[in-house]
Amino acid sequence: MDFELTAEQREIKALAREFADAEIAPNASDWDREHRFPRELYPKLAELGLMGVCIPEELGGAGADFLSYILVLEELSRADAGVGVTVAVHTSAVTLPILTFGTDEQRSRFVPPLARGELIGAFALTETEAGSDAGSLRTTASRDGDGWRISGTKQFISTAEYAGTFLFFARTDPDTPGACGVSAFILDADHVRVTGAEEKLGLNSSVTNSIAVEDAFVDGDRMLHDEGKGFTVAMATLDGGRIGIAAQALGIAQAAFDAARAYALERKQFGQRIADFQAIQWKLADMATEIDAARMLVYRAAWLKQEGKPHTEEGAKAKLFASETARRQTAEAIQVFGGYGYTKEFPVERYYRDAKITEIYEGTSEIQRLVIARSVLGLRRQALAQG
Ligand SMILES: Cc1cc2nc3c(=O)[nH]c(=O)nc-3n(C[C@H](O)[C@H](O)[C@H](O)COP(=O)(O)OP(=O)(O)OC[C@H]3O[C@@H](n4cnc5c(N)ncnc54)[C@H](O)[C@@H]3O)c2cc1C
Repeated sequence: MDFELTAEQREIKALAREFADAEIAPNASDWDREHRFPRELYPKLAELGLMGVCIPEELGGAGADFLSYILVLEELSRADAGVGVTVAVHTSAVTLPILTFGTDEQRSRFVPPLARGELIGAFALTETEAGSDAGSLRTTASRDGDGWRISGTKQFISTAEYAGTFLFFARTDPDTPGACGVSAFILDADHVRVTGAEEKLGLNSSVTNSIAVEDAFVDGDRMLHDEGKGFTVAMATLDGGRIGIAAQALGIAQAAFDAARAYALERKQFGQRIADFQAIQWKLADMATEIDAARMLVYRAAWLKQEGKPHTEEGAKAKLFASETARRQTAEAIQVFGGYGYTKEFPVERYYRDAKITEIYEGTSEIQRLVIARSVLGLRRQALAQG
């Protein structure tokens, strides 16, 4: 067993941290307050290869391994979780599934602009009536000559407003209810109308849109994988995607710990640093331990994925534990800051708000427990899209 990162992984992590410290962290609280998607940031990330870290070089990516990509998400999210999710959805939920399930033609046509960051990707599965139970989605795609006509609405689609490529799920077989009648399509921005944007608790530097596709015609070569195999695509995407969300949670928790540690060493009460009180020491010890444990789970799941080994259970455990760690430990960080932690003068209240979503998207904690329970009990995996 080797717990060391490789030289290349360390280099990519350092590059991401340096960029995040210089270009993201100083602006994160303004973006949060202004609810601003920092569009200008993404070409800079692209220039460093960070919009396609784990995509092969010949398809426009940086050619690094999946763990390197996870390290990048952790570092970006440590500075700003909204940037973290934008890159995570773009890479894990759009570029990678096209790379994995696309034909040679689809790969060479759609992957390079995404990997080079010329287009941003969005993943459109959720509908108002189909969240955890995404297999009940109602958006339809009907045959029209050699192509398809797609109609329907989607809810909670990250980055839709700025996206150029959508991985979009629709029901191609109206007579087959549930997951089996669903297929995956690659859509462009002009197939999609953005109909709204959510006002959220946190993650304010990302955008979360409702969208509509209104009788859009796409050629047959826009279908990703076979007809009726959309759920295979969605499941595999979420298996890997949730390792990215786990890394996002880890980055948020690490940021909260770093802030709490520094404050505890500085703040004085009763004539001494609060870090000298055992109550505060224990909080920091618990935070450090849980974050370390989360990191081990996240890196292990990433390693399993990059080795091509099964990682469904391990990815679900990583996301479950890292997201709950982030929620618990960002709350503890506020506690270390006392009243100041509750104000916008310090970033810990933002970490607390941002952490909550990691327990919800790409499968809620309840769905992660379901996935883990089915795996440890040897039960058949049902068609739960978000799980
Ligand atoms: C900020 C944000 C960004 C998002 N980005 C995207 C995106 O880019 N693309 C996309 O497609 N979706 C996206 N989503 C949607 C997200 O994945 C869903 O919100 C999530 O999967 C839960 O679905 P739901 O909100 O409909 O909740 P529901 O499924 O209605 O769940 C409500 C509650 O019931 C519980 N529950 C449901 N089913 C079960 C069960 N079988 N067993 C036990 N408990 C259960 C849930 O755990 C939860 O506690 C995003 C959501 C948000 C808030």
